[in-house]
Amino acid sequence: MNKPLSASDLSAYWMPYTANRNFKASPRMLVSAEGMYYRDDAGNAILDGTAGLWCVPLGHAQPKIVSAVQKAVATLDYAPSFQLGHPMAFELAERLKQYTGGRYSQVFYTGSGSEAVDTALKIALAYHRSRGDATRTRLIGRERGYHGVGFGGMSVGGIGGNRKTFNSALLQGVDHLPHTHNLEKNAFTKGEPEYGTHLADELERLVTLHDASNIAAVIVEPVAGSTGVLIPPKGYLQRLRDICTKHGILLIFDEVITGFGRLGTPFASDYFGVDPDIFTTAKGLTNGVVPMGAVFVKPHIHDAFMNGPDGIELFHGYTYSGHPLACAAGLASLDIFEQDGILEHANSVADYWQEAAHSLRGLPHVIDIRTIGMIVGIELASIPGKVGARAYDAFRRAFNDGILIRVTGDIIALSPPLVIEKKHIDELFGKLAAILKTLD
Ligand code: PMP
Repeated sequence: MNKPLSASDLSAYWMPYTANRNFKASPRMLVSAEGMYYRDDAGNAILDGTAGLWCVPLGHAQPKIVSAVQKAVATLDYAPSFQLGHPMAFELAERLKQYTGGRYSQVFYTGSGSEAVDTALKIALAYHRSRGDATRTRLIGRERGYHGVGFGGMSVGGIGGNRKTFNSALLQGVDHLPHTHNLEKNAFTKGEPEYGTHLADELERLVTLHDASNIAAVIVEPVAGSTGVLIPPKGYLQRLRDICTKHGILLIFDEVITGFGRLGTPFASDYFGVDPDIFTTAKGLTNGVVPMGAVFVKPHIHDAFMNGPDGIELFHGYTYSGHPLACAAGLASLDIFEQDGILEHANSVADYWQEAAHSLRGLPHVIDIRTIGMIVGIELASIPGKVGARAYDAFRRAFNDGILIRVTGDIIALSPPLVIEKKHIDELFGKLAAILKTLD
């Protein structure tokens, strides 16, 4: 058991996306993690129902990752990323390329998901310019999309709370497709809902409005996670793909949460059978152990840069692009994915996982349960005038009862490490059911 920190110990850290004053009045402190469990400062085990922040698909303290990172830090702790390389960065890129089945030919490293999104948007604009299409600068995102917190990602993102403070400082020339969430038509679905494919046609409307010659790219999350598990209607992503292809607009998938097995396939593009031109990843790329993001591009994107004049092809990059420790964690993670049958395991428990979630139907306040792969969204009716209060209460109680859930508004999002077993699924949903039965 660790000595609890005092109020003054807590004051200097300005916590991200946190109600700081609330938190510091009654802190929740994690001190260690192993496998499927965290441990708090009072020594309680807490079942990780969210894979940290969607970023620990292989479970915590994976010995192969621990030793790979330890070895890397003792061998090459840092290497400049501009005009110099180190072997692991090239090895990881090649392995990642193979992990896409060779469909994507190059990988650009970043330090986070937000950086990956901004990088993808910049690559899209630079791609068009390099081909003489310099007027193609408009970007299209989607309502309720989350693409991180950089100015690019915020601008294409569709969350009012993230945008309102920054208003006119956001990128100009950005439109948003409507989101696809529809409780009246699609409540209590397993997999892709039936209704809403036509919403992709809104893209045609924007093309008519602006002309395709001014539009660079469309960016969407294949499954939106942070805004409450929004699953694309059947055929929706393919229709977006078709419209983009028809008009020479690049399609970008933000796979920061869906990449690395969340749907039981390496990437969501494999699950849906729809290939974007560019996609972003982060999180599971290193099992959350070292921060890293990566942008994957198709050969035609990369070729456009390599056919230009000699010299630096893309004026963009980060001090920590391809950090040796992150590369070591990434390589070890891929080894585990490939050698330990992680996707096979996830697919073998996915149905049990989804059924366990749907068994909560009928409990008080539950107005929707939606599931796909190893993701569950449980939507609760909001208390009038207090959106988010009910789910936040569930989150607090869950933590006290030894399960970690994530809430966004009044939606509970669950996305456990893929190594979860049936006994953990029983523990998670058993405890959650007991909490839902007694929520105000
Ligand atoms: N895109 C998506 C789809 C995400 O879910 C997130 C993070 N939850 C991000 C981008 C931003 O990633 P990061 O927090 O690593 O910057």
